[in-house]
Amino acid sequence: MSTMQGAVIIGGQRQVELREFPVPEPGPGQVLVRMRAAGMCGSDLHNIYRTMNLDDPGHYRGCIAGHEPCGTVEAAGPGSTRFEKGDRVIVYHITGCRTCSACRKGWIVNCTSDQRSVYGWHRDGAYADFMLAEEYTLLELPDELSFIDGAILSCGFGTSFQGVRRADVSGYDTVLVVGLGPVGLAAAMISKARGARVIGVDISPERVVAAESLGCDLGLVAGEDTLEAIMEYTNGHGVEVSLECSASQAGRMLALESARLWGRVVLLGEHGNLSLNPSFTIIQRQLTVHGSWMSGISEMQDAIEHAVRWNIKPGDIVTHMFPITQIREAFELADAGQAGKVVFAWGEDE
Ligand SMILES: [Zn+2]
Ligand SMILES: [Zn+2]
Repeated sequence: MSTMQGAVIIGGQRQVELREFPVPEPGPGQVLVRMRAAGMCGSDLHNIYRTMNLDDPGHYRGCIAGHEPCGTVEAAGPGSTRFEKGDRVIVYHITGCRTCSACRKGWIVNCTSDQRSVYGWHRDGAYADFMLAEEYTLLELPDELSFIDGAILSCGFGTSFQGVRRADVSGYDTVLVVGLGPVGLAAAMISKARGARVIGVDISPERVVAAESLGCDLGLVAGEDTLEAIMEYTNGHGVEVSLECSASQAGRMLALESARLWGRVVLLGEHGNLSLNPSFTIIQRQLTVHGSWMSGISEMQDAIEHAVRWNIKPGDIVTHMFPITQIREAFELADAGQAGKVVFAWGEDE
């Protein structure tokens, strides 16, 4: 097979096109991955499909899109020693210079060199039958996890895992998750797995139901009396930990105001603004506020290991599955706000 199908998003125009591409050949240190599952990320929809900010130096470059890849090794290039054909792999979605302090720590996402490149944004990504990956960005997918689980782990679940880690959530805590999209749902699942009692809040009743079915102890549809309900549930004290995944002013304020004295708040949802009185909201209440952006590659490996250990299936948050030939329909559905987590799958998931 010398050609393959790959999808390119026409940025800012709500269009996506399936085109024919040559199957790439792996060079030194590279591996050709046969795609088995690829997740659609909120960023594909919000920052490419709907609107594209060309002033952002990191903007999408018109390559094959998709940055949540999972599949099997098809061929390894010269000098590759870690993998052989058939090995099941997750691709960490960013490549870096490998020598700056961020890269040396495995925090490739924070690499600032001009060699930094994101699969599906700056170099060909996951919405294709095959994808070329740097071998060092591959992580082993254990037999206990499906390809769909792997695709979810490769971006969003890693982000959630790291956010939960930042607050060091344990069975001691009541955790509030604000915003129950894919990142919030995963954060709720992971907090439950770490033994916490979990409250989930969203403006969408469907998402609240989804969170309850994934094990949330209390689901609340956001409204006038949400803060009061959280206070009542926590005997008037508030939660030990808030994980903010909504990125809205109201959601961010709820996360901060629901935290008890000395509580920990992690901001995961990106963009938008936040207006507050720091004295009353943060300082006088002794809060610790963390910003948490995606995950490092070693933290992603940790997330994979713990998903197996805790027997949780990241793929449980998936609401819609499509073959890549229906990518247009998939984006239209997601754009209409009618989907939770969308995944593209090639053949039987196993
Ligand atoms: Zn993503
Ligand atoms: Zn670097």
